[in-house]
Amino acid sequence: MRTGIGYDVHRLVTGRKLILGGIEIPFEKGLLGHSDADVLVHAVCDALLGSVGLGDIGLHFPDTDPKYQDISSLTLLAQTNAMVRKKGFVICNIDTIVFAEAPKIGPYRESMQKNLARAVEVNPRCINIKATTTEGLGIIGQGEGIGAMSVVLVE
Ligand code: MG
Repeated sequence: MRTGIGYDVHRLVTGRKLILGGIEIPFEKGLLGHSDADVLVHAVCDALLGSVGLGDIGLHFPDTDPKYQDISSLTLLAQTNAMVRKKGFVICNIDTIVFAEAPKIGPYRESMQKNLARAVEVNPRCINIKATTTEGLGIIGQGEGIGAMSVVLVE
């Protein structure tokens, strides 16, 4: 069995869609990035890559490659899952935290869980999504960005 950890932060800006866990969430701002900037999915990709010793998301999906511009991060996650399986591992569980002052994640939690489960070919019960604010403190608390963290177990 092996574990992996992933962490990511993206800046919130006007004029971008907010995509989290593959769900478009109605909000006045969206996350800035080369892909759809789905910070939650990026954290999960990094955790999975870490668990099997395959580096990080920037190594496999560089933000200088036009191929990945505006791409759905769920596609990157599915490709990451293929790499994990090719290494001979299966995913036991994926735990996550979204750090955001707003919007509320609760109403979208189940849909996000299903999206992640589909991308990595596991039962949705193997995926957990938590959310927290940072009590108004720091870049996340001030609404300048959204962060995410993930820990995975593979065997
Ligand atoms: Mg990212």
